[in-house]
Amino acid sequence: MSSPDKPIPLDIAIIGGGSAGMALATQLDNLSAVVFEPKTAAERDCSWATWAQPQQLEDLSPAISGSWNQWRLIDHSGEIIHQSSQYRYTSLSSGQYLQHCEAGLKDSVSLVRAPIESLVTEGGGGQFIADGQSYKAEKIYDSRPPELDDNSLRQHFLGWEISTTEPIENADIATLMDFRVDQSHGLHFIYVLPYSDRHLLLESTMISTQLEDKDWYRNAISQWLAERNIQIQSKLREEYGVIPMAPVQPQNTEIASIGAAGGAVRLSSGYGFSTIQTQMAALGESIAAGEYRVPTPFSKRLIFMDKVFNRALNAQPDHGVRLFMATARALNAEQFARFMLGSASLIEWAKVVLAMPKWPFIKSALIQLCSHD
Ligand SMILES: Cc1cc2nc3c(=O)[nH]c(=O)nc-3n(C[C@H](O)[C@H](O)[C@H](O)COP(=O)(O)OP(=O)(O)OC[C@H]3O[C@@H](n4cnc5c(N)ncnc54)[C@H](O)[C@@H]3O)c2cc1C
Repeated sequence: MSSPDKPIPLDIAIIGGGSAGMALATQLDNLSAVVFEPKTAAERDCSWATWAQPQQLEDLSPAISGSWNQWRLIDHSGEIIHQSSQYRYTSLSSGQYLQHCEAGLKDSVSLVRAPIESLVTEGGGGQFIADGQSYKAEKIYDSRPPELDDNSLRQHFLGWEISTTEPIENADIATLMDFRVDQSHGLHFIYVLPYSDRHLLLESTMISTQLEDKDWYRNAISQWLAERNIQIQSKLREEYGVIPMAPVQPQNTEIASIGAAGGAVRLSSGYGFSTIQTQMAALGESIAAGEYRVPTPFSKRLIFMDKVFNRALNAQPDHGVRLFMATARALNAEQFARFMLGSASLIEWAKVVLAMPKWPFIKSALIQLCSHD
């Protein structure tokens, strides 16, 4: 290692080796690049899920923990089941995915297991310290988690991975949203991924501006299990997360932001994995051609529609169940998968808009049109 005063020169520095940082790092070749990430892949393990098509399923296979061609949404009036021959709702172990990316790094790309500090930017690159060593990079891509406004709309959840004493029913269907739970604190649902008939991930998920005490989500999961007579044999893991559903502010606006910090998480659904994959693949190709700009993750039209959707949700959280159930009812499985991934066609969007409760949606579209955010 050289002295901290004499910076190591790099073509590219990637700050943060999460979903976006590692996806970009695996694309790079023939450039000196380093990913700076303080946590190990195992420390970062949680479930990342997406709708995957056959090629993507093959690419992601080392990290897949479960995959379903059926998924459903449930409320007190019934359930909507989607069955697809093109898409599988697929859950990944993020830890295994990140390890797989690490193993695929080219010789010119390395990983430093440390946070960056004392960043001074200069023309899209800059100088900083990591693990006591100084670095100077021509170009920096920053994926440090964005700042969250305390009062903004967020998706927040706590989940348990459990094994059960008895086999559960419907182990071949992923339950994306079961709204038959307490709705008094905001839009709330239980998310259930059955990895087998005795092994589940279930999460109590809220869409609201206020985070809950962790025991609140735990009680919601326990109650959901008790109402279905499902007994836990062992609790294997707990995960907790907060995903922004409002435009985010990157930690440093002088350098390029990627991933969630670059607005690649869908505002109305919290899904970001597939968009980040596509965006980082495109950025990798651009860099190879000498163009360093980060491609925009979503169209302006999509961002506008998501803001309208969220505004309607925030104004009247009690309409939330209707908004999501109406979306699922209006679309078939393939259309729904594309809609959630942010790649729905105009016709698919029109179907969703026509299915929405009219007045709240029109009102929120008009307010959004007049607002400057
Ligand atoms: C718990 C959770 C579950 C999610 N589940 C899904 C899902 O199922 N499907 C989906 O599509 N989306 C999901 N998302 C949304 C989104 O896909 C993820 O947030 C995704 O990880 C975003 O990728 P990223 O690279 O932008 O950020 P991250 O993956 O969070 O990576 C940022 C990295 O920056 C590192 N870092 C922080 N400070 C420093 C520093 N000073 N120096 C260097 N590194 C630093 C962090 O350790 C972290 O590893 C989830 C989000 C969360 C929080």
